[in-house]
Amino acid sequence: MNKQASFFESVSRNFDKAAALTKYPAGLLEQIKVSNAVYKMQFPVKFGNKYEVIEAFRVQHSHHRLPTKGGIRFSHLVDQHEVEALAALMTYKCALVDVPFGGAKGGVKISTRKYTVDQLEKITRRYTVELVRKNFIGPGIDVPAPDYGTGPREMAWILDTYQQLKNGELDSAACVTGKPTNTSGIKGRTEATGRGVFYGLREFLSLKDETKAIGLDVGMEGKTMVIQGLGNVGSYTGLISIEEGGAKVIGVSEIDGTIYNKDGIDIAKLLKYKAANGGILGFPDSTAMDRDDWVSIECDILVPAALESQIHKNNAKKIKAKIICEAANGPVTADAEDILLKMGVVVLPDMYLNAGGVTVSYFEWLKNLSHIRFGRMEKRFDQNAYSNLVDLVLKMTGKTISQKERTFLTKGADEVDLVRSGLEETMITAFHQIRDNYKRKKNVHDYRTAAFITALDKVASDYMTLGIFP
Ligand code: NAD
Repeated sequence: MNKQASFFESVSRNFDKAAALTKYPAGLLEQIKVSNAVYKMQFPVKFGNKYEVIEAFRVQHSHHRLPTKGGIRFSHLVDQHEVEALAALMTYKCALVDVPFGGAKGGVKISTRKYTVDQLEKITRRYTVELVRKNFIGPGIDVPAPDYGTGPREMAWILDTYQQLKNGELDSAACVTGKPTNTSGIKGRTEATGRGVFYGLREFLSLKDETKAIGLDVGMEGKTMVIQGLGNVGSYTGLISIEEGGAKVIGVSEIDGTIYNKDGIDIAKLLKYKAANGGILGFPDSTAMDRDDWVSIECDILVPAALESQIHKNNAKKIKAKIICEAANGPVTADAEDILLKMGVVVLPDMYLNAGGVTVSYFEWLKNLSHIRFGRMEKRFDQNAYSNLVDLVLKMTGKTISQKERTFLTKGADEVDLVRSGLEETMITAFHQIRDNYKRKKNVHDYRTAAFITALDKVASDYMTLGIFP
């Protein structure tokens, strides 16, 4: 096998490709590109009467806006380069969707399958203590969130550890996002990344020119989709694309293999099957395939939602899909993208497409700082006002409506309604900013470069406003 571009090299190459198309001074581009602070730690954890030394990282890629923000990954593949690449993507992602944070990322080099829940809790709490000790966590400093291998449970442990050490800190709940809803979390965070992928893809598919260029009809209805990785991001992308977009998921790939059904796979049922059986193989009415075969399934949309570097120069040519949705971070290497662009495949880039998670994390952070849930003040007021308006119209027209219609017309917004609406607005606005650069700029032939330029413009403008670069 030829040498593959690593994730870090791919992010670096993609940055350089876009940076060369801007007019910013070399020093400013260099400052934007590098990691501002890297904390590598090695700490002991005692299991029974044995000690284990755990290696972990927290990288703050850019301090141009504070706090910095980014998930924590638990994986045996974690290394400093991977965390740096992920942190850099967070800077560009936040800029793209106008979330006022610098980018960061954390990584703990462990395989979660090898530890009990109690052991994972011990590791998570110890990691948090290290972050507090070095001032690498705090509502105005650096705010972690879930990533591969972590979820609301780990975020609750982080919050609890932080609060034990920072007793009485008024805004302490904002030190981490992606928390359970009953522990200062926000409704709609768990689904947010997958829902954002859906909004981004739906926006692309709503455009006549773009869809026509790749031989597809407008709209998501009936489009076939294959998903790699049925974790947080992959499962919600599938569920929402089916339920709200009318897409058909015909293939799913997981650790134990790939399953295929040309008539569509019920993702809700598959998730229950996976939880009960520890894998997806054997799911009723599906054909089993090798794990790596997911790339070559004939479909409209391929959704890599597991890890980086899954589509590389040795398998890119096998792809038959028209669109690749980068739900994961860095799933397409720079080498593979060169091949795919020549093949006419559209790649919707990670830094845009999976920004739903950080967007709703931002809403959660705002909720924690304001100490009130969204919708609490206005929901009933709005409901009463809509009700009065409906009554007036009915009186004036002499018509009647059913209770169901009345409930629909007079509903005030709950927290989850506002979160979804804010996310939808964010994803659509960012898409059109990227598309403007894609259409307008000479020498921009792909959405990733257009997204990079959009992000670079915003980060560079911040640096210049700060007066660091004239
Ligand atoms: P997760 O741990 O919930 O799910 C990942 C899934 O991928 C697991 O089910 C795992 O079994 C599967 N998987 C791993 N290797 C595989 C392989 N070789 N083939 C098939 N399946 C495989 O993780 P997640 O939070 O859904 O994150 C997935 C990706 O999305 C990561 O790249 C992450 O950085 C990115 N992401 C996550 C979020 C978030 O909010 N969780 C936000 C933005 C980006």
